[in-house]
Amino acid sequence: MNKLVVATRNHGKLKEIEAFLAGVVGQVVSASDLAGFSDTIEDGFTFEDNALKKAREAMHFSGLPALADDSGLVVDCLNGQPGIFSARFAGVGSTDMENNNKLLVELNGFPEEQRQAYFVCSLAFVTPEGLEKTFSARIPGHILSEGRGDNGFGYDPLFLVDMYGRTMSELSIEEKNLISHRGQALKQFRKYLEESGLGQMQ
Ligand code: IMP
Repeated sequence: MNKLVVATRNHGKLKEIEAFLAGVVGQVVSASDLAGFSDTIEDGFTFEDNALKKAREAMHFSGLPALADDSGLVVDCLNGQPGIFSARFAGVGSTDMENNNKLLVELNGFPEEQRQAYFVCSLAFVTPEGLEKTFSARIPGHILSEGRGDNGFGYDPLFLVDMYGRTMSELSIEEKNLISHRGQALKQFRKYLEESGLGQMQ
């Protein structure tokens, strides 16, 4: 594929996606490169709904194949919260620290064994020819009562990755990409492009 629009303005995410798709996509263009493109209102009921909505709008606006992601944290004992509201758990415009603090308040009193959670990422790929594909992946863990580590973003300091016994913030970016929800979903997408022949460049 010569050109792919990625419906995000997040520079870090864009770089991560570019790295995963090297060799199967010639050029990755971001939402910020599309002059006049307004951000999609994320009003779906699922991660997949939101990813599809973002990808469709970017594809219609640009006339190019588009990829979008939606991700978040799901905590079992909070009935799935913060879920699709992960970015604004403590209110619209809230910071990572405010969201983390709210999570700790909500989990106050829950013992460690009840603090299971997972990060989930849904990716949606749509093309002007009408093709729509979604990919989804999860990484399981536990929510600690105190943050640990300096890397990452969002809920990373509180999220203990079960398979590593370290928080997401204690992993290097390479370690995180190997196992993260987004990394796994991007791997599925890359494999799909390779196997379907869409990854070939003209
Ligand atoms: P979005 O997919 O960029 O809209 O992410 C939604 C929110 O989910 C982010 O603002 C974070 O709070 C949370 N989130 C998603 N992925 C991660 C992750 O890898 N680490 C920590 N928090 C995440």
